[in-house]
Amino acid sequence: MYLVALKCRICGTEYPPEPLYHCSLCFGPLEAVYDYEGIKESVSKEEISKRVQSVWRYREFLPTNHDPVDLGAGFTRFIHAKNLGECLGLKNLYLLDDSTNPTYSFKDRVVSVAVTKALEFGMDVVGCASTGNLAGSLAAHAAKAGLKAFIFVPAGIEKNKIVQALVHGATVVEVNGTYDDANRLAAEIAEKNRNWGFVNINLRPYYVEGSKTLAFEAAERLGWEAPSQVVVPVASGALLYSIYRGFKELETVGLIDSAEVAFNAAQPEGFPVARAVKERRQVEPIERFSTIVHSLAIGNPADGIFAKEVVERSGGYAEDPSDAEVIEAVKLLARTEGIFTELAGGVTVAALIRLVEDGRIDRDEKVVAYLTGNGLKTAEAVAETLSTVKIDARVEEFEKVLGR
Ligand SMILES: *Cc1c(COP(=O)(O)O)cnc(C)c1O
Ligand SMILES: [Zn+2]
Repeated sequence: MYLVALKCRICGTEYPPEPLYHCSLCFGPLEAVYDYEGIKESVSKEEISKRVQSVWRYREFLPTNHDPVDLGAGFTRFIHAKNLGECLGLKNLYLLDDSTNPTYSFKDRVVSVAVTKALEFGMDVVGCASTGNLAGSLAAHAAKAGLKAFIFVPAGIEKNKIVQALVHGATVVEVNGTYDDANRLAAEIAEKNRNWGFVNINLRPYYVEGSKTLAFEAAERLGWEAPSQVVVPVASGALLYSIYRGFKELETVGLIDSAEVAFNAAQPEGFPVARAVKERRQVEPIERFSTIVHSLAIGNPADGIFAKEVVERSGGYAEDPSDAEVIEAVKLLARTEGIFTELAGGVTVAALIRLVEDGRIDRDEKVVAYLTGNGLKTAEAVAETLSTVKIDARVEEFEKVLGR
């Protein structure tokens, strides 16, 4: 294993790789540090190309040596989206589509890593606060690993997402309030039960590492090259920041020549990271919000300031499309590329449309847009805007439909 320490992202203090998640000096978040010289000596493009088609393909860059809890997360479809690209005026638009992950969202990547780490730590209970996708993914991986799971969700999220968690045997606790309330409660419970692994709380430094594979896969599928721009949906900001770290690590070990990628953040209308980038000010939490995109509805993004910094330093931008734009984008993607994405993916595509319209992305640039979930998870909001054609069972009736 090449993990050597956890390091404070703010003050740089190093800690042993234990179930720690914030710096005891400055309270900054901790992140994994690896022996990059060691990785450089041991991996090659040829060797990687022969490996399993899951996140564990890139195991040197993951923070555990334990036998993986692997339901097959990762190495999902990566497609050159010629039809959508033509609609938008982009020649080299690529989509990394996580709708086909084991529990139908990108969360399987992070959970597979976190639950494996929980086993390595000898934990027998795992938990999380979730806006929905994490719940389903954690429940499935906990079932496979033989661990008990407690899942805290905001009351009122999509029913089919709770079903997904319940069916795998997790205890789902609906907390009155928002995701942020559920998260606060889960953090208090994690403090009280030190041998429980809350994947997005005390296992967070390990959990987020799984997201780096979204950078690794894009680079590998582009022939070990970074795209010039990416569009990433943002909830807490961890995903965007981790993709950034993923490209940097590939550059550090020499698997790509350059990690010069412009990062564009996609959030639902009015959410803090996009707002901060667009209005050139600090990331400020919001308490009251309404959006149909529940999987991105985090009012107080834990990694918001880091995501914003990556966006600004990389020369990218942020967009926060409205609910109506999101639904239109889901339909456009479905009708051009045959991909039914979750509303979060609609936010990505809608943001991409705005970025192109505003001239922030050029026609020839290599762009990767991340579609992080499956449309069947949020079908209801889209269904309301669609209709069937109803007729009596006579051929003439159908002829009328054809306008004959
Ligand atoms: C969790 C999630 C994200 C991004 O989450 P971050 O908190 O920013 O890491 C994006 N899309 C979907 C569908 C998600 O479930
Ligand atoms: Zn610190």
